[in-house]
Amino acid sequence: MSTIAFIGLGQMGDPMAKNLIKGGHTLKVFDLNKEAVQNLVNEGATATDSPASASQDVEFIVTMLPNGTLVKNVLFAENGVTSTMNKDALLIDMSTIHPFETDALIKEMANTGLQMMEAPVGRTSDHAVKGELLILAGGTKEQITKAQPLFDCMGSETIDAGGAGMGIRVKIINNYMSIALNALSAEATTLSEAIGLDFETALSVMNGTPAGKGHFTTTWPGKVLAGDLSPAFMVDLAHKDLGIALDLANQVNVPMVCGAHLVSFIVSPVRQGEGVKIGPLFLNNFG
Ligand code: NAD
Repeated sequence: MSTIAFIGLGQMGDPMAKNLIKGGHTLKVFDLNKEAVQNLVNEGATATDSPASASQDVEFIVTMLPNGTLVKNVLFAENGVTSTMNKDALLIDMSTIHPFETDALIKEMANTGLQMMEAPVGRTSDHAVKGELLILAGGTKEQITKAQPLFDCMGSETIDAGGAGMGIRVKIINNYMSIALNALSAEATTLSEAIGLDFETALSVMNGTPAGKGHFTTTWPGKVLAGDLSPAFMVDLAHKDLGIALDLANQVNVPMVCGAHLVSFIVSPVRQGEGVKIGPLFLNNFG
């Protein structure tokens, strides 16, 4: 069992730290919010008065903070982690921050002989409470192996993302898809209701097609991901169908922010009479 400094005891950090204690680890905690610190002390953690005092004589330092500027401050400002951290300790940043900030922090730490990896998490605070987070580990194989007992307390699955900085990259890509699809789902729901379509019917249709199932598990594996870029559903037809949906939305006063942007994305190859290639992607496979 290890001695761990845990910094950032919010919605996610609080249950993650509690699960480390349940797993038998010894915790030294720090947060600007005294109530958050007291909640952990009630579970057996030791309160500290700065990131520096939390990080003294520990094997791991975990940070779970709102953004990259705060992570940088906690590491490098006066009374920061790096003023006391041991050379053989491992800092694990589990916050969601900009990947280029992660790269810069890892480099800055390495310049002073200190080790850092990132391990942002997928899923929600309910999963954090149950110790069922998805851990997206970016670091060397040795760092991930060393941190695995901690990850096993906080999560139910660890993905080795393929090296330093790759955990936060896959987290951002995943969240980009998830957030964009959520907004698109809300648009489709609102339009369904506005045109008098029973949403349960719309849902049952979309749940059986790539619209609801997603393209990565339906249309792409046998075509785009297999290197087959030949047209399946032509982009000029996609342009027409999108145009009809947008016209419909306009007539029933439903704003379609995502759809409006998609039209401008698709219109250019249609104008060129190609209907196939757009940037690095090939929108020939709507399914
Ligand atoms: P939160 O705002 O609930 O908690 C952040 C904590 O950090 C607070 O307790 C705050 O007091 C503390 N803090 C801020 N500045 C500090 C400083 N300088 N020193 C010490 N403590 C400081 O945020 P959260 O929801 O726990 O999210 C934390 C990270 O996890 C974020 O990067 C977020 O994007 C990511 N995340 C959140 C969720 C979620 O569902 N909430 C899911 C996955 C990932």
